[in-house]
Amino acid sequence: MTVESSPTEPSWTSVIVEAPEASAPLVCALLWSVGAQGVSEDHPGLHFDDDNELYVTDEWKVPEPANPTDVVTVTGWFEELVDRSLLEASLADLAERQGLPPLQPRYEGIVNQDWSALWKKGWTVTRFTDRILVVPEWLDVPALEPGEHALVLDPGMAFGTGTHETTRLCAELLQSELESRPNLSVFDVGTGTGILAVAALLLGATDATGCDTDPAALVVSTETAQRNGVADRFECYEGSADSTERRWPLVLGNLLAPLIKTISQDLADRTDEEGALIVSGLLTSQAEGVRESLEAVGMKQTDRLDRGDWSALRFVHRSGASR
Ligand code: SAH
Repeated sequence: MTVESSPTEPSWTSVIVEAPEASAPLVCALLWSVGAQGVSEDHPGLHFDDDNELYVTDEWKVPEPANPTDVVTVTGWFEELVDRSLLEASLADLAERQGLPPLQPRYEGIVNQDWSALWKKGWTVTRFTDRILVVPEWLDVPALEPGEHALVLDPGMAFGTGTHETTRLCAELLQSELESRPNLSVFDVGTGTGILAVAALLLGATDATGCDTDPAALVVSTETAQRNGVADRFECYEGSADSTERRWPLVLGNLLAPLIKTISQDLADRTDEEGALIVSGLLTSQAEGVRESLEAVGMKQTDRLDRGDWSALRFVHRSGASR
């Protein structure tokens, strides 16, 4: 029999143990052995907000984030009620055998939420560029100014809601590109929800091709094109910039800096001799490194847009006519 839990009653329990770093794997193993459905380890220095060097490094292989303390917070999630006396006896036994200070657990109830509904409630109509509003699929399209477009989106499991600075910076460079060179054919590497490719089509690109290594992105980007009435001008495939030999007059890549550096040659190869490449997804501190790696494959930087911590860059071929 399934018992529906009330949305306000805790239905899961988390068991939290502060453990000396060296013993954290043993505490994790213990929580699994007494029936945890999931276990996590946490410590200062692990999160983006912790200002950890890990997130600003230019290296693809990043070092283990350093823990400035000797303590790790181990949390186990239990759907069934935890046998607290068994758990506490097992922790006491572990502490004694390993010569550790007492391992005293804390218990917290977790209230079941419809996370997806909650997230939907928090996301509203957002301005993407001065000519595009992104409208969640479940909301009404507001009145638009002349020349303004609504881009209707349901991101599902794919990346790209247009609320992140990196996508907006890329979209701004895309829009000015299309204003000065209308009727372009666009290639969007790492298309995610298809937001940039569809924005390009709404802004007058003749056709757009997206690619992504994530199969979910192919489904969602196709739906985005359909929702916005541009499916006849959009196609996408699973793979990356090296899966095709075609070239485009405009290539977009809102990817992370290390990835842009890794696939610099492919991005350059996909860009027409007279075409342009716009890359985004980089921290301002990474922009120079990305410029160097694209210049090493024959590109020349022509524009750079910075906002907050983020940058987007535009390149042309050094050998092509400069624009
Ligand atoms: N274009 C969207 C999504 C950007 S997120 C936007 O601007 O909002 C980056 C996307 O790149 C993700 O969908 C991810 O699956 C995809 N990706 C990651 N590695 C890739 C690769 N090597 N080649 C192509 N796409 C890749």
